[in-house]
Amino acid sequence: MTTVLGCIADDFTGATDIAGLLARSGVRVSLRIGVPSVPPRDTVAIEVIALKSRTAPVSEAVSETRAALRWLQAAGAQRFFWKYCSTFDSTAKGNIGPVAEALMEDLGTDQIIYCPAFPENGRSIFMGNLFVGRQPLAESPMRSHPLTPMRDSNLIRLLEPQVTRPVGLVDHFTVARGPEALRTELGALRDQGVAHVVVDAVANSDLVVIAEACRDMPLMTGGSAVAMPLPGLYLADGTLSADAFKQKAPRLAVKTIVLSGSCSEMTNMQVNDYTHRGAPAYRLDPLELTKSGPQTAIDWLSQQELIRAPILYATTDRASVKVAQDMLGVAQAGEIVEQALAACAVAARDAGARRFIVAGGETSGAVTKALEINQLDIGAEIAPGVPWTFCHSRRHQIALALKSGNFGTESFFSDAQAKLETA
Ligand code: ADP
Repeated sequence: MTTVLGCIADDFTGATDIAGLLARSGVRVSLRIGVPSVPPRDTVAIEVIALKSRTAPVSEAVSETRAALRWLQAAGAQRFFWKYCSTFDSTAKGNIGPVAEALMEDLGTDQIIYCPAFPENGRSIFMGNLFVGRQPLAESPMRSHPLTPMRDSNLIRLLEPQVTRPVGLVDHFTVARGPEALRTELGALRDQGVAHVVVDAVANSDLVVIAEACRDMPLMTGGSAVAMPLPGLYLADGTLSADAFKQKAPRLAVKTIVLSGSCSEMTNMQVNDYTHRGAPAYRLDPLELTKSGPQTAIDWLSQQELIRAPILYATTDRASVKVAQDMLGVAQAGEIVEQALAACAVAARDAGARRFIVAGGETSGAVTKALEINQLDIGAEIAPGVPWTFCHSRRHQIALALKSGNFGTESFFSDAQAKLETA
């Protein structure tokens, strides 16, 4: 099927997030991990490509994203969405701005919008300032993110050093006046040479206005939520046809494993909740892993009944993360944990696990790579932005839930299992 909408996400969980929201429409969504090495074949109406470019060197992020764009164009897509984190995770060098400018150049477009708002998850934008719940971004826990600490809440100020062309704002008062007013304002900004436009959104209804106004732009950028209304709009006018609907979820063995490498506040609460429910649990410590590798964890796993959905986690509080990072270096501490959890995922699969729940963006990347997964079909949503997905690891069909750090509520790990039963 010819692809109608092509999305490119800067990390794995970001890709599952947008894929899940797009799939809410009932339209079939396929997610590819990395740019496929073969030309498009068996594509579906909405294709999402997950990159691992959020914290990559700028030139690498740009060239990977351009390759993704070319693949999606070859699949037939004419509309594109560049998805980054709803907390605008980036540094003064990028990668959001430089990637956006490269895509603009390749698509020959002179204006794009930026809307990382995700009201259901507490991310809203007002007067160009991004809020996480009630806190401005720079006062939220994102302030001390290990790789992309966000020390300013103003999206215009955050974007300006990342791009070469002027940045502007369409504020909430204009958005509240509807799609026509927004289009007019964008036109006025274009006449002034404003290439990059941050658009305010505080509620889902704002996102509908924005999607309606921008639906035929060659490129939109944002968090996942502003893309959510697009399939409905494309279905309504026949851009997407009725045979684009998704398939039924497969039945899979109940053997389950939970792997958590995120150290976000929410994931800490989720691990705490899950272990207090009596789930078999094993804590991985990066300092111990440097000495003796993941074998002890794998041995523990081999003694567990996978039907009880054991958890292996490196999740810990900020102070303990800092101790490990000071001893090992930030990258090394992260890498050693990711590789250990990835090795546990492979061991679990070989022991018969068919349902995998993974917490952490980078962690998800490492796990899917180790499981040799390169394409996923999107299934039922567990929490806003976190769907179950179905894929093959070696010959086995498996279900995989990939959750980025702050997503889901406290009972996420249990919720995920219950959701698959009713999917
Ligand atoms: P999130 O989605 O919350 O950002 P990620 O998996 O992307 O989660 O990032 C968390 C990073 O922290 C990973 O690189 C992971 O390996 C690393 N990490 C996990 N546990 C620890 C720990 N105990 N000490 C140091 N680093 C850790």
